[in-house]
Order: sequence, then C-alpha cells, then structure tokens
Amino acid sequence: MLEHDVIIVGGGLAGCRAALEIKRTDPNLDVALVAKTHPIRSHSVAAQGGMAATLKNVDVEDTWEAHAFDTVKGSDYLADQDAVEILTREAADVVIDLEHMGVLFSRLPDGRIAQRAFGGHSNRRTCYAADKTGHAILHELVNNLKRNGVRLYDEWYVMQLIVEQGQAKGVVMFRIRDSKVQVVRAKVVMFATGGYGRVYNTTSNDYASTGDGLAMSAFAGVPLEDMEFVQFHPTGMYPVGVLLSEAVRGEGAYLINANGDRFMATYAPSRMELAPRDITSRAIVREIRAGRGIHPDGSAGGPFIYLDLRHMGREKIMSRIPFCWEEAHRLLGIDAVHEPIPVRPTVHYSMGGIPVNTDGQVRSGPDGLIEGFFAAGEAACVSVHGANRLGSNSLLECIVYGRRTGAAIARYIQDRKLPDINEQSYIRSTQEQINTLMNQSGTIRIGALRQNFQDCMTQHCGVFRTEELMQEGLNQLKQLQQQYEQIYLDDKGTTWNTELIEALELRSLMVVGEIILTSALNRKESRGAHCREDYTERDDTNFLKHTMAFYSPAGIDLNYLPVAITRFEPKERKY
Ligand SMILES: Cc1cc2nc3c(=O)[nH]c(=O)nc-3n(C[C@H](O)[C@H](O)[C@H](O)COP(=O)(O)OP(=O)(O)OC[C@H]3O[C@@H](n4cnc5c(N)ncnc54)[C@H](O)[C@@H]3O)c2cc1C
Repeated sequence: MLEHDVIIVGGGLAGCRAALEIKRTDPNLDVALVAKTHPIRSHSVAAQGGMAATLKNVDVEDTWEAHAFDTVKGSDYLADQDAVEILTREAADVVIDLEHMGVLFSRLPDGRIAQRAFGGHSNRRTCYAADKTGHAILHELVNNLKRNGVRLYDEWYVMQLIVEQGQAKGVVMFRIRDSKVQVVRAKVVMFATGGYGRVYNTTSNDYASTGDGLAMSAFAGVPLEDMEFVQFHPTGMYPVGVLLSEAVRGEGAYLINANGDRFMATYAPSRMELAPRDITSRAIVREIRAGRGIHPDGSAGGPFIYLDLRHMGREKIMSRIPFCWEEAHRLLGIDAVHEPIPVRPTVHYSMGGIPVNTDGQVRSGPDGLIEGFFAAGEAACVSVHGANRLGSNSLLECIVYGRRTGAAIARYIQDRKLPDINEQSYIRSTQEQINTLMNQSGTIRIGALRQNFQDCMTQHCGVFRTEELMQEGLNQLKQLQQQYEQIYLDDKGTTWNTELIEALELRSLMVVGEIILTSALNRKESRGAHCREDYTERDDTNFLKHTMAFYSPAGIDLNYLPVAITRFEPKERKY
C-alpha cells in the first residue's frame, strides 16, 4: 500500500497552491499530488480573463470592502460573508505572492500590475496576464511543486474516497497507463478536483471536468452544498460553446441583437455588458426567445446574438485579448477586427460543491466535520460565490483558499497518525467494479448514453427552470441511469484504456446531474443563477439558506444550512 502524509487529488490552481503551502510550512511533510491529466493540463490552464484583487493600481479609491460587497451582491446574498471577507482581504497579498513565485502579470506603463474591468465589479481590479492568466499562474505553480519536493502521480484516475466512521483514510486509484490499482493511505486527503461542466451538452469546460470528486464524496456519504447553482457564461462561441472571456467585454466589446441594438440597456442599464453573468445570460436567452436572435445567414429569429469588437480596433484587440481573437479565428474562421462573433450562453462554473469551513475542512452535515478530509477550489463550496459567481473571483478563490487549506492541513496533521485500511478488500471491490464494466454484454454505447444524459440536463435544468420541466428531467435521468448497466466497452485492454475512464466518468456525471436536479426542484424561488419561471421572486423568508444534499442509492435527502451574514443585510439586487 502506498503511504503519504497528505494526498491531494487535483493538479489545478487549488491543489497546487495547497501542496506548496504545506511544504512551505513544514518541508518534512510527505505530500503527494495525483491528477488524471498532467497537472498543467488541468482546466485552470484555460482561465483567460484574470484574478480580482484590490491592488488599487488603476482605481485608487478601491477597497477590499467594496470587493466584498460586490461579491455578496453578485451572489444574490447567498454567499457566506465571513468567507467572502477572507477572500477579499487576502486577495492583494496572494497576487503579490504569486508574482514573487515568478508569475508574469501584464503591466501598466509604470511597471505596476495592470487591472481591468469585469462584470459585477464596481472598480477595475482584475489582474491578468493578457487573456492567458490561468496558463501563466499554473505553469509557475507546477514549477514550484517540483522545486519543493511534492511527489506527483500524473495520469492516475482516483476511483474512490475511503471514509470509515466519519474519517477520511485515503483513496483508491487506477494508473491509466497500465490499469494498475493502488490504495493510498494518508493522514489527510484533500480534494481539488474542479467542476462538472460536462454534465451539460454545451460547456466551456474541458473534457476532464466530469465532477468525479463530487461523485466520490457523495458515494462516501459526504453531503454536497448548493448544487442547483450552475453558472452559464454569457459568451460561449456558437455553436461550439468554447469560451470568449468576459475580459472581451471588460475591454469594451458590445452585445448586439438582430436589430443591431445593445440590448443590455433594457436589462442592466447601469452596467450594460458588464452586468453579472446570471443577468446577462438570461438577457441573451430572452432576446433569442423574443425572436431577436440571429441566424447564421444574418437574418433575425436565430439561436445566437453577436459579441461585437469592431469598434475596439486591431491594436487593442491584439494586445489585450489576443487569445480570444485567435480562438474565434481558429474555430469559426472569423476575424473579430472586422466581423462580430456569434455567441450564446454556455455552461461554465459550479457554484456549489463539497461543503467546507474557512479552513477547508469538509463538513459532514449542518454541524459536524469529517476528520482528515479537506477540499478547495471549484470542487469545494466555502461559499464565496453563493448563487452566482463574479468573473475573476474563482482563480482568486483557488489561490486564497488553496493557501489557507494548505496551512490548515500543515497544522492539523501534527496530531494525526496513519490510519489502518484493509487494503485487499478495497483492491478487490475496485477490481470487481472494473471487471463488471469490462464484461458487460449490453448494447448501449457510452457516447450515446452520455449524449442523451447531457441533452436531458440541458433541456430540463438550464437557464430557465420550472417544476414540471425538472420533474420530467429527473424521471428521464432515472431511466438513463438504468441503461448504465447495459453499456459495453469495445476496448478490453489494460493499456491506456480511455474508454474505461469514460465509463467511470459517466457514472460521476449522472450522479452529479441527479443531485443538481433534486436540489433545484426543492428550491422554490429564483436566486442568482437558479431562475424559476414558476417562482419568479427571491424568497428570503424560506430560502435564505444553503442546500445540503445527501446521496444514497435509495434517494437523495436534503437538509439546509444557514447563511453567514456579517456586514451586508440582504437587499433587492439591481444593476
Ligand atoms: C475556459 C475557462 C476560462 C476561465 N477563466 C477564468 C478567469 O479568467 N478567472 C477566473 O477567476 N476563473 C476563470 N475560470 C474558472 C476557473 O478557471 C476554475 O474555476 C478554476 O481554475 C478551477 O481550478 P481547480 O484547481 O479547482 O480545478 P481544475 O483546474 O479544474 O483542476 C482539477 C484537477 O483535478 C483532477 N481530477 C479530477 N478528477 C480526478 C480524478 N478522478 N482522479 C484524479 N484527478 C482528478 C484533474 O486532472 C485536474 O488536475 C475559467 C474557467 C474556464 C473553463
């Protein structure tokens, strides 16, 4: 059996930042990081627009309190305000710390770090590296991992979280190269497994964003918080869904409908294109529904609207958002200097996740904690984003809470011993699970089932929701889940069996989908990204609380957790 003091699952910003902090605090600790991709291929590498922090390099009157208020208002008052305060207070410090590690941020003419406007932020506070911010940060973190002696297991797929009697003890993992199964025991397990965009058929997320960490936690009896809040980013390229960063609008691009109008004037007159994402995504869908969308031939009534950069000029486009220009050119053959880009909302981010306290320790329910289990980043819900995340607050969360969780683990571990695990029984059950999948003699292909599932979620739990629609979706989903036992694999091999990995990922996706739908059905109000056409108002009397969903094969039980309100009393949210 493999042994480490700490095993971190996930090599994105959150996992890497935590690993570094543990080693910086106590270099003698044996820290291992495992990822199903190579760490530098984690979805964090694709982050474009930037990371918010009140450095005050551009808007000198900015304050962390203003950042906190924008974040809480953006969250539709569901964020935990103690967690938001930590996020925004520590922001400037973590940016400077990253710079000292070697991250190359874009600069102002006087050499200080540049900052740009972003949706829902009242000041220009988003630090960036052109429109490749995630790339710049992740590469530097991974370099630092090696320098600090963190043990890497790349291209290992973690299949199970081992929790016994309220205590996390380790994980079971599968080496993709040769199908070797290994149990790892550790004093602390940390999940930083990212989001689940692939639950939907159109997403900005990479192929690996399948919610494995959420599903493994659910299977181990850990609750999942606020899973009904799914962020749709307003500007996914049509038809592919690939992201065009909010930085494009931050730098001045317009959204226009079939009549050539900047329609955001109707929905958020004070913020226009820089309204928060939930509001902008709904506005786009409403325009399309009202027949003011655009067809590929340019006529009205079609499925997308335009993101228009033409007035910005070549020089600004190429210096500030070169990657977005490149993506539109590469994927759609469009030269954005001269032509508008077709866009529509695309699934982008998971506000909910594994519930944690502000030290990153995982909650077992409304009251207790799970011993030895921590989480951070998009997979976790500390809740700084509540019902709707502001752009450029996620990279910030990964770094602030990655660092805090790392420091907390280094303290916590001092009193922990390596747990006892019955290694053989875990190897046996995992091997059986794999053999069953390999030997199933069904007729259903993985790709087809996944597509039907993604279509089901997209149709029944999208930007606008109703009881009837979601109930129908849940019924359909249960039928699709039964078909899982009838999938068959062409590849029976043990070398790089990516079809087997896809089958395991599909299992994660389906469980996560079921939890999203169930949590959404029970929130009978509209708040942030959760917009119900049958309950159109926010209902603070009954729903100013976090959902906690407990999964079991027999069904999902829901419980609720109060929201931490410290500074900002809930008010109507208008822009
Ligand atoms: C296109 C795009 C652009 C974005 N731009 C911005 C931006 O400009 N600003 C901003 O603040 N946010 C942005 N975001 C959001 C932000 O990038 C993410 O929320 C954040 O990077 C998530 O980091 P993470 O460390 O939590 O997880 P990820 O970076 O997603 O990493 C997850 C890790 O977990 C591993 N993993 C998962 N499952 C398993 C398993 N079963 N076994 C082993 N390993 C596993 C993966 O291999 C990977 O290493 C963007 C997101 C996208 C998709």
